Amino acid sequence: MNDASCKVLIVEDDPGISKFLRTTLNTNHYEVLWTDTGVKALEMISSHCPDCILLDLGLPDLDGTEVIRRVRSWTKTPIIVISARSMEEDKAYALDLGADDYLQKPFGTIELLARIRTALRHTRTALEDDSIALNGSYQVGDLLIDYRKHRVYLAGNDVGLTPNEFRIVALLGKHAGQVITYQAMLRELWGPYASRDNKILRVHMANIRRKIEPNPDEPRYIFTEVGVGYRMSEE
Ligand code: CA
Repeated sequence: MNDASCKVLIVEDDPGISKFLRTTLNTNHYEVLWTDTGVKALEMISSHCPDCILLDLGLPDLDGTEVIRRVRSWTKTPIIVISARSMEEDKAYALDLGADDYLQKPFGTIELLARIRTALRHTRTALEDDSIALNGSYQVGDLLIDYRKHRVYLAGNDVGLTPNEFRIVALLGKHAGQVITYQAMLRELWGPYASRDNKILRVHMANIRRKIEPNPDEPRYIFTEVGVGYRMSEE
């Protein structure tokens, strides 16, 4: 399956934006489906099985977050939220409900296409061959996460992460390119009853960056989405 044969469902009620999205995706050889309401989106997702969903949050009938919640009860089809809502809580909420990514309007063509490729790649690795499971490692630039030895190397040198630091880096590496919200990280690392306090993550992240980033003030490997979470870089 290459990206060109992928079916993308656009859920957007703004005629200008939906026209822009349809034209962009058609030009880039995606198969495009489109609707302007949440109810029709839910119908189309079950009847047409798109490979990826671009979802506006401010829809005339259902709120986009409600669409995410319902879709996630039966499928993992990647959802990229496209919204003008800029509050960090809105982004974190959508991601915690199970959206895969969040693009804030206005956005450009290059970024849109890159996010779609990332979302599609993740489904593929999840469905077909998990390259991490295959190689036992994840590499980006000089950074290598060795999942078998539970170690992280920078340009061949063991950076000496603590077990908790390793778990954080390992989790981000498995979802490289995607934002992992603070809440999702806390839950994944310390279970459903983990504290909602992000401070522990910030402390760990400061230590991790000191060990893996050539310049911790300008991270190359782990980026902060302020108020939302962290993202590991890919390639
Ligand atoms: Ca809208």
